[in-house]
Amino acid sequence: MPSPSPAPRRRVRLRLRGIVQGVGFRPFIHNLAHELELGGYVLNSSAGLSAEAEGDPAAVERFIQAVTRQPPPLAWVQEAECSELEASGERTFAIRPSAPETGEFALVSPDVATCDDCRADFTDPANRRFGYPFTNCTNCGPRYTIIRDIPYDRSKTTMAVFPMCAACQAEYEDPLDRRFHAQPNACTDCGPTLSASIEEARRRLAAGEILAIKGLGGFHLACDARNGAAVLALRRRKRRSDKPFALMARDLAAAEEICVVSEADRAALASPLRPIVILPRRAGEAPLAEAIAPGNLTLGVMLPYTPLHHLLFAGAPYSLLVMTSGNLSEEPIVVANGEARERLAGVADWFLLHNRDIYMRADDSVVRTFEGRVRALRRSRGYAPQTLDLGRPVPELLACGGELKNAFCLTKGRHAILSQHIGDLENYETLVFFEETLANLKKLFRVEPRAVACDLHPQYLSTKYALDIPSLPKVGVQHHHAHIASCMAENGLSGETIGVAFDGSGYGADGAIWGGEFLVAGYAGFERRAHLRYVPLAGGDAAVREPWRSALAYLSDALGPAAPLDSVPEERVRIVRRMIEKGVNTVRTSSCGRLFDAVAAIIGLRREITFEGQAAIELEMAALDGVTERYPFEISGDGPWQLDFRPSIERIAREAAGGTPSGVVAARFHNTLAGAIVETCRRIRGETRLDRVCLSGGTFQNVRLLGLVAPALRSAGFQVFLHGKVPPNDGGIALGQAAVAAELMR
Ligand code: ZN
Ligand code: ZN
Ligand code: FE
Repeated sequence: MPSPSPAPRRRVRLRLRGIVQGVGFRPFIHNLAHELELGGYVLNSSAGLSAEAEGDPAAVERFIQAVTRQPPPLAWVQEAECSELEASGERTFAIRPSAPETGEFALVSPDVATCDDCRADFTDPANRRFGYPFTNCTNCGPRYTIIRDIPYDRSKTTMAVFPMCAACQAEYEDPLDRRFHAQPNACTDCGPTLSASIEEARRRLAAGEILAIKGLGGFHLACDARNGAAVLALRRRKRRSDKPFALMARDLAAAEEICVVSEADRAALASPLRPIVILPRRAGEAPLAEAIAPGNLTLGVMLPYTPLHHLLFAGAPYSLLVMTSGNLSEEPIVVANGEARERLAGVADWFLLHNRDIYMRADDSVVRTFEGRVRALRRSRGYAPQTLDLGRPVPELLACGGELKNAFCLTKGRHAILSQHIGDLENYETLVFFEETLANLKKLFRVEPRAVACDLHPQYLSTKYALDIPSLPKVGVQHHHAHIASCMAENGLSGETIGVAFDGSGYGADGAIWGGEFLVAGYAGFERRAHLRYVPLAGGDAAVREPWRSALAYLSDALGPAAPLDSVPEERVRIVRRMIEKGVNTVRTSSCGRLFDAVAAIIGLRREITFEGQAAIELEMAALDGVTERYPFEISGDGPWQLDFRPSIERIAREAAGGTPSGVVAARFHNTLAGAIVETCRRIRGETRLDRVCLSGGTFQNVRLLGLVAPALRSAGFQVFLHGKVPPNDGGIALGQAAVAAELMR
């Protein structure tokens, strides 16, 4: 009798790419292999994750399916490669030490908000982590902000200086434990510590003090949001214009007390990314300090995202804290203890520090929901350095981004690596932050750029930086082309689209300042098909700070050089008129931001601003619902068409003088602009047969306008593409620059 032949065995090698490290993938695979009685191993490589599994062929098949189709919740498998190997008879499954591979890289996980299991741990008096503010596990905790290099191991994070105690080490080594291979694992006995007690911090906050609190990606300045004197003092000390302060609410219920929270907003607030969500203020609800967001109908609210935050609210008399970036206005967020003591000394009454170093700065991200989807306005903590898919491998590139709200972009393979929000590149400190972050991302993703893309504006620091890099080819990308390419890239579009790029300003191909642009664009190039009629704007930067100058430009254009502008001292008006007449320090601009400024100033809403976009935001807020009329406008010229709003301006000036409520004018103005956009797109479609429209640029942060334009375009038969993962403002243009440069290098 023949002896029974041994059961056939199958062995495979799996190589995974994507977000596969620091998200509990190895324990998941380990446990899965045990369940299926497979032998083999798993390890982190600098390319991602490698595993071999061997055993019963059906079990191996189930293993492959589970790993690729049902990975752990925070993981993202972008690519899975499976190859067959000779079976070796291996019966045990092991987690092997990480293996660096030269030139290879793995995606680094963004920071993840505290998970429910960890929260249960540090709020349970019987748990050994009760009250411990640095509790984390494989499903949550710091990542990008503490990682110095890859592969992602504790020794390559700022946790390296905290050797684990026996209890933590045991968890770390136990495949059945939630903290199995959790690199930042720590407890009261072995991990980072606070400089003072949380009880004291709570007491001081309750008493109205301003605290500098070290967080995940940097310092916050915090105070009780219902304490008017504290909020006012914070605003004064921080030298921060009227820019709204963000709030942290104890929980969803506390957020809903002050804001109207939709289903989509609720999901955004509670997501592991924990961004600041812009929410409409609840009408009539006013127990909040006015100085939080003066004159604003929305509030930026986030929920606690570290154990420390949760503990700051535990049993406290307050349920809402102001939590604004720990910086002086316009400087990068402070991350180091010494730096905080020095720079925030005049702002904070007291410091709550800890001794876990923040390696990478990351501000809080800011989003808003529109049409049920999350739209990033500032992409930072929780988002960066999550990559975007370019759809095909491209050469390694650096795109330097713009000037305001700068973020840069690197490419590697088919990944676009958009940096976290860097800020306004207008001072030395911000440039240093730009350089540090660039060096770090180049290292983490093993990028060696072969070309550099930048804006055309010769005065942008980002452009100067690009042009100063020796021996690399430079690709100049027009600002609004970059906006549209960014929207296309994010939506995975190719070919040509109609691009509507509306914003404050961008350097035009003709030397004028553009900002109300209709392009027919692909990645390789664009044609300017229409734009707002140029007006002469006098005073350089002052023209942006003083919307009445835009009003004067538009009024003179519509009504002649003697058009009256009441409410601004005659002397100043006369000087600006002369500048316009003689062309002194005057630029021609098609900026949509300046059109908003002009209307806001003409109807007396705001003549001077203290932060970018303030007049436009107030005009949006002022607009009343239920107004359907619009003003007349013209589309004229051949070559690029001109959107001529002189008839609108004439009517607005008359209505303002005649006492029409500003809310009515503001609403009619929005209707007019929306109508003009749709009409212009129709005409372009008439000539080009294109029916896909991309909406980009800072103006489309205006949800009233977006809410009018997008549906109207759809009912006119257009396919409409908006931003979601990437900001529509200048924080998104680096992606567009990269996409354009990649195409040109093809
Ligand atoms: Zn956790
Ligand atoms: Zn420990
Ligand atoms: Fe822009």
